[in-house]
Formats: sequence, C-alpha cells, structure tokens
Amino acid sequence: MAQLRRKVSEALSMAEVPYETIEHDESDDKSASVLKPVEETSAETQADGTGSINNEDDVTQESECRTHCAPETVEVGNLNLLSSKFESLDYDTCENHLLLDEERSKGYKFIMKKSFARWIIFLLIGIFTALIACFIDIMIEVLSDLKYNCLQFYVDSCVWNYCLVTPYLLWMVLNIVPVVIGSLLVTYLEPVAAGSGIPQVKCYLNGVKIPRVVRIKTLLVKVFGVISSVVGGLAVGKEGPMIHSGAVVAAGISQGKSTTLKVDLRILDYFREDHEKRDFVSGGAAAGVAAAFGAPVGGVLFSLEEGTSFWNQGLTWRIFFASMVSTFTLNSVLSTYHGRPGDLSYCGLLNFGKFETIVYTFSEFFIFILMGMTGGLLGALFNHINYKLTVFRLRYIQARWLKVFEAAMVAALTCTVGFTMIYVMDDCKPLGQDPTKFPVQMFCGDGQYNVLGAIWFQTPEASVRSLFHDPPGSHKVLSVAVFFVGYFLLSCWTYGLSVSSGLFIPSLLTGAAWGRLVGMGLEILLPGWKVDPGKYALVGAAAQLGGVVRMTISLTVILIEATGSISFGLPLMITLIMAKWVGDFFNEGIYDIHIQLAGVPLLPWEPPPLSNNIYASGIMSHPVVTFNAVENVGRIIDVLRSETHNGFPIVDQQCEDADSMKTCGTYRGIILRSQLIVLLQNKIFNESVEIWNPKQVSIKMFWKAYPRYQSIKDVSVTQEERLFTIDLRPFMNPASYTLLHSASLPRVFRLFRGLGLRHLVIVNDSNEVIGIVTRKDVARFRVWKHRGRMGMIELMISEK
Ligand code: ATP
Repeated sequence: MAQLRRKVSEALSMAEVPYETIEHDESDDKSASVLKPVEETSAETQADGTGSINNEDDVTQESECRTHCAPETVEVGNLNLLSSKFESLDYDTCENHLLLDEERSKGYKFIMKKSFARWIIFLLIGIFTALIACFIDIMIEVLSDLKYNCLQFYVDSCVWNYCLVTPYLLWMVLNIVPVVIGSLLVTYLEPVAAGSGIPQVKCYLNGVKIPRVVRIKTLLVKVFGVISSVVGGLAVGKEGPMIHSGAVVAAGISQGKSTTLKVDLRILDYFREDHEKRDFVSGGAAAGVAAAFGAPVGGVLFSLEEGTSFWNQGLTWRIFFASMVSTFTLNSVLSTYHGRPGDLSYCGLLNFGKFETIVYTFSEFFIFILMGMTGGLLGALFNHINYKLTVFRLRYIQARWLKVFEAAMVAALTCTVGFTMIYVMDDCKPLGQDPTKFPVQMFCGDGQYNVLGAIWFQTPEASVRSLFHDPPGSHKVLSVAVFFVGYFLLSCWTYGLSVSSGLFIPSLLTGAAWGRLVGMGLEILLPGWKVDPGKYALVGAAAQLGGVVRMTISLTVILIEATGSISFGLPLMITLIMAKWVGDFFNEGIYDIHIQLAGVPLLPWEPPPLSNNIYASGIMSHPVVTFNAVENVGRIIDVLRSETHNGFPIVDQQCEDADSMKTCGTYRGIILRSQLIVLLQNKIFNESVEIWNPKQVSIKMFWKAYPRYQSIKDVSVTQEERLFTIDLRPFMNPASYTLLHSASLPRVFRLFRGLGLRHLVIVNDSNEVIGIVTRKDVARFRVWKHRGRMGMIELMISEK
C-alpha cells in the first residue's frame, strides 16, 4: 500500500514527467484507492506544475473526510478546488410509475401535442431572443449617438478655445454614469448577470445548477447592464450577453410559468423537467448566437461545442429552426427600424460590413499560420493576466461598493486612455476616407479628421468594422500600435468587472488592430505585393479571439457567416486551430479558467487519459445513506435534515453496520430529495388512504413544485404522522443506471457526461448497493496541462 501511495504521489506531483496518471491496484485495500486531498495548494500550483499530493499518514483521515474535503484554510483563487455548493441537474428521465400512468392515460395524441408544442416554443424562443437583441441594439445606438455627438461638438469647439479639459471631463462623466448604473444593477440586484454569461450557460448545459442563472430578473439586469456598459464606453461588446439572454428566454417560455412574477399559466407543465428545460436552453443559446452574429449555423455549432450534454437529430433540427427564426426576426426588425423594410440587410447585431470576395494565395497560408500562433500567444497572455487579476479580485475586491468603484475607475481610465491617444497622436486623414459618424478634427487641418478620434468616438463594433474596411493607408503604424497595446490592457482589466459585458468584440478589436499592423508591415516590406490590410485585420481578429476563448468549429463558422465569405473559411480555420494549439500549450481558455476559479464541477468532453486503472470502487462514497422501499416518515425527515445528499438508493433492507464497507441491501431504485419533500408536503402517507386517488397523486404534483423545491425545514408533520410510512416504490426511479464496482473511471465518466447523470449507484456482484458516485466524485479527476506537459490531478472539494 505504501508503494501504491508513493506511486500516486509521484504521478500527481507532475514535476518533470510528461504524461502521468494514478496507479491503482484492485487487489489492494479498498481504502487505499480513495485518495486523500492535497493538503495545501496555492493558486500558483497548477500554473507552476508543482501540485503536491497526499503523504502516507493522511490516508487514515479519509474516513473522517469522506468527500475529499479541502483543508480548513482554503486559498482564494485556487484552481484545484471544487465547490460543494454547486448542485447537479438531473438529465436522466425518472421512469417511475407516475410517468407510466401519465403516458398510458394520455396516449399517442399527447406525444403529438408535446412535439407540436416543442416547435412552437422554439419558434417563440427565436422571436423573443431576436426582439431582445433589437432592443439592446437600438438603445445602444441611440444613446451612443447622443454621447459621441455631444463629445464631438465639445472637442471641436474647445480645440480653438483652449478648454479641452471640458470635453475630457464630460467624456469621463458620460462614461462613469452609465457604467456605475450598470454595475449597481449587477452588484446589488443580480451578480450572476455579470460578464458575458457564456461560462454559466456552458455549466448549465453541462449539467451543473448555477443558482438564479435562468431567472427573469437575471435577464432584465443583463439587458440593462449590457446597454450601460457599452454606452459607458467600456471595452466590452453586447454579443456574449445575447447568448445568456437567449438561454433565459428559452428557460422562461418553455415552462409556462414564472416563479419571480408569481405567474403560472398552467400550460406546458409537461416540460417541467431538467432534461426538457436543457434542450430549450441549448436552443436559446443558439438563437442568441444567431442574433448576435447573424450566424444561425454558428449558433447550432456553438450549442454543440460549448457543452450540451445530449444531442440528437430532432433536437439539432429544432435548434437550427430557432436560430434561423432569430436571425430572420432580427433582420426584419432592424431593417424596418433603419428605414429599409423588406431589405433584410441587418443579419446580426455584429455587422462586419460587406467583404468583397477575399482573395488569398498559397504563399499567404504561412502568414496565416504565424498569425494564428501569435493570436494563441497573445490569448494565453491575456488569459494569464486576467487570471491573476481575477484572483486579486477574489481576495481583495469583495465588498460590493468596491466592485462598483472598480468599474467606475475602469470607465474613467478608458476615457483617459482614449483622450490621451487622440490628444498625443498626430494622425490626420482627409474627410471622406472613413465611414465614421463622428469625425473629430482635434489638431488636424480643415477638411481632415483625427484617425484615433474616429476609432474611439464610436462603439467598439463600429471600430472593428473600420479596421476591416478602411482603405489601405488610412492609419499610421504608430497610432494602430499604441491603440492595440492600450486596448489589449484595457479589455483585460475590464473582463471580470462587476458589469454585464461580452468579450468577443474587445478581442476582435484588439486582434483587428494587430492584424492590420501585420498588413501594414507587409505593405512596407513587400512594396510590389497588393496587400489588403483589412484581410489581415480579419485574420488577426480571428486569431486573437480564438487565442482567448479557444473555440474552433463554432467560431470558424460564426466568422464565415458574419463575413459572408465562404471562400475564406479555410484560412480562418487554420488560424483558429493554430491559435488554439498554441494557447492550450500555456493555459486554458478564458471561460474555463473562470469556471475553474469558481470551483464548478464541470465535466469535460473526455475522461482523463490513462485512467482505466481507477475503478468505481475507488471513487465511490460509502457507506451509502439508503431508504427502504416502504419507509418510516420520521426517518425520512431525520435523514433529510441531517444529510445534505440529494439522492438516496432504495434497498430491500438497511445495512446493519453503516460504518463498514458492508452492503446496504439489494438495489431497487433511487429517489431524489426533491421528490421526498414533495411527498412529505402532500402527505402521501400509506395511512392516509383517501389521498390515493389518481387525481391527487400524479406526476403533476412534482411538475407543480419544479424547479424551486422547498427545503426540508419548511416541511412540518405531527408526532403522529412521524410514525406513518410512505411506499416509495411508485415514485422512485426503478431503472436508474447502476454500475459494478469493477467499472473503470472512463466508463463512469462517459455515463455521467453522455447521459447527464446526477447519481450513479455502485453495486456488487449480487446487485447490493455498496457505494454511490456523483458528478463531483468524477469531476475531481482533471487533466492537468502545463507548457505541453500533461497529467492528471485530483481536486479537493471545498465547502465554500
Ligand atoms: P448534487 O449536489 O450533485 O445534486 P448530491 O448532493 O446528492 O448531488 P454531492 O453533493 O455531489 O451529492 O455529494 C457529495 C458527496 O456525498 C459525494 O462524494 C457523494 O458521493 C456523496 N453522496 C451522495 N449521495 C450519497 C448518499 N446517499 N450516501 C452517501 N454518500 C453520498
């Protein structure tokens, strides 16, 4: 055993060995296979690749710390912790007697009705998501026009009156006021609306319940928050939040009720289950992408790539339908708003402008590869700086007023950086070369405008467009270089602020700036070549975004659809692949870093490599808290009050010695805490015979309580009722998945990942319950990567 632990210790220390894993010997003592947590791992541990591991004496403490709990002093910002506060969603159907009764009584007609309702809901998801996108877009456009119009006037008039400090202060106020409003909304009303929401949606689709993520209040804060952030001039975009907004719309429409608004339409109650809701949410996320980028196929692929745990042909088709509807609705509404009804020329919120056919030659592939690699490097740098900043925030910026203050500070800094650039950089161009709405003259001659002023005095989307389409010679190398450095650092500081914000646009803009620099460099180096700097700006934008978020398939398709240039698909794909490979060499994508910092038990696509020698018996928890098929009400209440578990196997007889590895009876099924609470609240006791009437005891009882189940503290029973019994058999899931103790970790992992399981009961050869595995038990085994080396690390579970 000592030898085994030494091997484990060596494997997980991962100092020099390139590809290691945990050794496990089945014949060994069972307790040896359950590893003790890492004692103390600093925030630097993973990044430095020096993860420490259990020493020999600690294994005895395992029984006291059954859930691999973390040491008492947990360092904030530790990437090697899983938080126990995140519960799982149950994507497995509970095929109990109530469901069968429901199916039998309603028949085939009901299936048709349900299928029809699904299509209608996906249609509504597409329409409402697009309408929200239109609202955000129009509000931002109107408010930004007012802001930059006013600023342009003051800048131009003050240059000659020596009062430039007035427009500077005005700019600062016009930045700070909206940003503070947005930040107050997010910080005090709904913190889960901060950021783009993509990591949260990704976790939801993966099967992790993120509290309040799909509530209507979150949607409202998100919408007004993102308008405030963009109008406030922060280095953010409105596209990422659209994905979250789509997800909330989907979750709301599909349930036919809103607990926040206390409205229950009493329709669609048959969709009140986690797996049904998940399918709609993936449609909503796709509709959000479609509305944001005018990319319906990209939307479908985004939902596929970024996490949905279940996929079938019917679902793909419906999601595609929602995405198409979303793009079409947005297009129709925005075209009408811009005075061209029926023209349908506004495909998405992000408009890259019309690219004429982009031509490229074989020799340019080499440049695209190099640019992809540069994007990977810059993306990794961005993620690393942002990771350090996030850890700093977690440690020192905890008070809510401090979060708002930080947002205000960044808003002030953004305008200071912009103003300094416009003031200092002497880059003038004749009017008419740039489609900018608010050309500022500053110190330029008559009939000229300041190039940096044109970039800063518009929304970031418009700036991306300018960098893609401005004719060659529109910018000086120095001004674009200074803009790139300034914007890179600003966007890095901005992501993670307590405001609603998207990361796509700032990354695209930074990348477009350095991509254009590459184009300008090539113009100088190869005077004979007809270089189109806009093309390189596009490749740079793709490389930078790919290097930060590390998406490949969906991002390629989104960019192809947004530019409308299918022939340029291959260079974009090559760039994105290179950016991902190079970036992955150093660290994870930005969303994954934030997910890890939050300690979310997210399951990746694949199980950890070389883990076939870890067995279910080594990862399961035991002894298991179980219930009898006919259970005493008092015991159910006591167990629910004393234990925190959410799933309990049902067995024929209770085990006698709960402290040992003895079996706990023959497996019969599994029941959830939420189901037990509903049963207790409705007093479905064997002794109260009159309630056994199909109208009262039906699956609708559970649908009604979904998704905000009461806590056990809210259940009250009399002393007499405590002596009653409940027959759990009609309510338990009799066909839940079970596995033999000898199953390997990859097999357990695939069941969880593929089927979206919440609990997996482990049985012995006689079908007796000997253990239970949950998502957290599986998520603890994570692939560790650092500078090209790879291994597996076992995470701790923290109570925080
Ligand atoms: P979730 O939080 O994912 O909804 P849960 O609350 O039932 O599920 P976890 O919080 O993941 O379970 O469980 C924490 C630990 O408790 C895990 O190691 C798990 O194996 C263990 N566990 C879960 N259910 C039981 C049970 N009925 N008896 C004993 N241990 C359990």
